[in-house]
Amino acid sequence: MDDCSDALHELYQYLDGELTEERRAIISTHLNACGECFEAFDFQAELRQVVAYKCRDEVPEALKSRIAGLISGEA
Ligand SMILES: [Zn+2]
Repeated sequence: MDDCSDALHELYQYLDGELTEERRAIISTHLNACGECFEAFDFQAELRQVVAYKCRDEVPEALKSRIAGLISGEA
């Protein structure tokens, strides 16, 4: 799908809730249709969770190892 670069480019704004309703609808439609972009979205969303957990200093081991696996899989 040629929307991929758009979707990935706006992923952070999407996660931050900084997009207009119209752009959000376009991105979320693309995420539902495109497994690759959804994975990227899922990964970023999970990373944010880790950061949120880190602030409270209680990252669950299972989540940590899952993220470590995802990161080494990405690289
Ligand atoms: Zn895509």
